[in-house]
Amino acid sequence: MARIVNTQLLQKIKRHGAGGTLDVSACFNCGNCVAVCPLAEDSAGFPRRMIRMAQVGMEQELLASEDLWRCYACGECTETCPRQADPAAFMAATRSYAIARYDFTGLAGLANRSAAGNLAVFAVFSAIFGVLLAAKQQAVAPSAPLFNFLPGEWIHHIGVALFVVVGLSAVFGMLSMFLRFRAQCGRKAVALRLSALPGALVQALTDALMHTRFQRCADGERTPAKPAEPLLKRPWAVHAAVMGGFLAMLAATTLDYLLKPIGSPVAPWYPMRLLGAIGGLVCLYGLAVMLGRRWKASEVPWKKSSFADWFFPLLLAATVLTGLAAEVADYAPLGAFGHIVFFAHVVLAMDLVALLPLTKFAHVLYRTLALTLFAWSHAPAAETAAEAEA
Ligand code: SF4
Ligand code: SF4
Repeated sequence: MARIVNTQLLQKIKRHGAGGTLDVSACFNCGNCVAVCPLAEDSAGFPRRMIRMAQVGMEQELLASEDLWRCYACGECTETCPRQADPAAFMAATRSYAIARYDFTGLAGLANRSAAGNLAVFAVFSAIFGVLLAAKQQAVAPSAPLFNFLPGEWIHHIGVALFVVVGLSAVFGMLSMFLRFRAQCGRKAVALRLSALPGALVQALTDALMHTRFQRCADGERTPAKPAEPLLKRPWAVHAAVMGGFLAMLAATTLDYLLKPIGSPVAPWYPMRLLGAIGGLVCLYGLAVMLGRRWKASEVPWKKSSFADWFFPLLLAATVLTGLAAEVADYAPLGAFGHIVFFAHVVLAMDLVALLPLTKFAHVLYRTLALTLFAWSHAPAAETAAEAEA
């Protein structure tokens, strides 16, 4: 099959980089970045190989590669690149480009390319959810319970519709990535055995939840001369706090819905309420360290973050903060202010879900899929009957 070359590929990826400063044309393929990358040992060498693909316009191969998502953005490669080609930023920009290309609506491209596009998509979603919620808003006294002001059933109905739409969008995006990957396996004659899929899935989920690869990456396994950071400040621990806190809040919300009537009052020590509050605080800790580190890094020219890098953690932090404030307002009524905070929290939480397949948040989907595909395509070949007997 003829290979399709996209001569504009590098330019397109560049638009997804921070401030448009990304330039990997200086790369002369020395391989330093591969040597220092803590995660490149079991493949043919990323990030150098990915840069080469972009330089020669191999878009399909780049978008089919699970290596793109096996990088955890530690920045080791950038620090040792003799040409200041910034391979870590290249990997991040290419992931953002891939999210845009996997999405069929075109919204991910708009949201990831520029701050204006990102804010426009956010504003449109916020307006839609705001109008939908306002349609059923009740006129109540400032001291009335929060769910008298916004009916729980109505929030639930919008939430279910939202999850269906976002779920379909996520499935299409992941399917787009998978079909590219499968076509690539066909070209390389790599067999994908269905029987090896459950094991690959378990391995990928364990990796993702336990941060096993991230620990190797962020603890600088191949650069041991670096002083280790305190445990709770290590990038993988901070990421685990954000993810674990988020999952705890998600579990609390889901169980709350399943185990009791929507919006019915509970004591502060009700287990689901406690789980949500603790999850929120843990998540906020992780986000504060993450954003502080990003702020500090932005003083270094080649460590600048794109708007999309800032937007997702800030949106998550705003959602958690308004959620915690709404919980306080549930026990110690804050008057009309409590109602406004609750309204804002519900809109932000819906924005967060709606933007899942379109923004940096999508790494949750694509990284997990990439880890699965990697484990699947590298599963040991099945024993033949003759080998088994021997
Ligand atoms: S990105 Fe830098 S370190 Fe990596 S191959 Fe290119 S020049 Fe070498
Ligand atoms: S950022 Fe870290 S994990 Fe990613 S390619 Fe560079 S060294 Fe490897």
